[in-house]
Formats: sequence, structure tokens, C-alpha cells
Amino acid sequence: MKQSRLFNYREDDDSVPPEMVRPRDDCKLCGLCAGRTNLVLPSGDLRSRVAFVGEAPGETEDNLGRPFVGKSGKLLDRLMKDEGLDRSKVMITNTVKCRPPNNRAPTEEEMAACRQFLESELYGKDVIVGLGKSSCRDLLGYEGKMGDIVNKDRSIVVRDREILFIPTYHPAACIYNRGSTDALRATIRRIRDEFV
Ligand code: SF4
Repeated sequence: MKQSRLFNYREDDDSVPPEMVRPRDDCKLCGLCAGRTNLVLPSGDLRSRVAFVGEAPGETEDNLGRPFVGKSGKLLDRLMKDEGLDRSKVMITNTVKCRPPNNRAPTEEEMAACRQFLESELYGKDVIVGLGKSSCRDLLGYEGKMGDIVNKDRSIVVRDREILFIPTYHPAACIYNRGSTDALRATIRRIRDEFV
């Protein structure tokens, strides 16, 4: 049976922007559906001016159905707390809503299949923080070294709107790396000072 591609959030829920759409719970638009326990949809303030976009759900996220709640999420929480940025005031999401097997990076095809949902989440934002390589590959088309672009302003077009895009390290890359952690802290401080 042909599957409807888009599925609206509850229309009577004011916390969700009207243009935001989500996959159906049984979405099979790409092969990542095979290993899914739960869809992992955006969290935080969905109407925030700010979106953080990570790579993909990991095991804990897949089990709980929430983004950035595993080891990387805990580090991101700590850095946000240290820098005085309230996580509930920004939106946090991923390029794909289902966990890739063995935590591999999502493929171009998988990110393309899920992009309609991501775009609807990002529409209307003033700034997007791209956490790590997959996010920068999906949204910027960037394939080079993260170190060359971290905290250097870029812009992307989401539908008819140009949006500031700040590339930075994924928290997973910061766990044992002081330099990456400092760079991610600097990104968070800037978001706190200029956008929240
Ligand atoms: S990753 Fe996105 S497109 Fe692929 S099955 Fe999951 S929700 Fe659907």
C-alpha cells in the first residue's frame, strides 16, 4: 500500500509550528525503519529561534524516543548548563529520525528521505547549529574537515528563507578532546548571548 509521506503534529497543539510535519510512526521511507524501536522527534522549544541539529539517534535515544539523552546528550547538557543556556529554550533534532545500525553515519539517501521532516522543523529558525560532520554534510553539502569550518558562519536556504548556519563539533567528538569541547562551548556561549 502506498504510504502517505507527511503526517501532521496535533493541530490543536500550540507548541508546534503549523508548518512542522513529522513522519508517521510506521514510516518506511528509508531502510533505517528496519532497526527502529522509536522515532526520535525534535525536543525542546519547537518554536525557538534556535535549532541544534545532530547526526542520528543512538541506542539510548532509540529506546527512549528522545534526542540527545545518551552519553553525548549528557555532555551537551553539561556544557549548556555550564554556559547558562537553558536546553528547554532551544530545539534539538537530528538529520534522521531513526537509529542507523551499529551507530554508523546515515547515508546520503537516508538523509535525503528524511530531509522533508528536518526542513519543516528548521523552517522559520534564525540560526541553526550544525553538530558534527553528518549535519554539515546534510545541510551544507560540506565534506571537508570539521576543524576548517567550526564556528565560521555559513548560511543555508530552507525553502524560501536564508538562515545563519554555525558549524561546530558533535558532542561525541568532544568526550575525550579538550580543544573540540572548548569550540563547542564557544558555540553555546554565542547562542546564549545572541539568540536566546
Ligand atoms: S529515517 Fe526518516 S525517512 Fe527513514 S524511516 Fe526513519 S523517519 Fe522515515
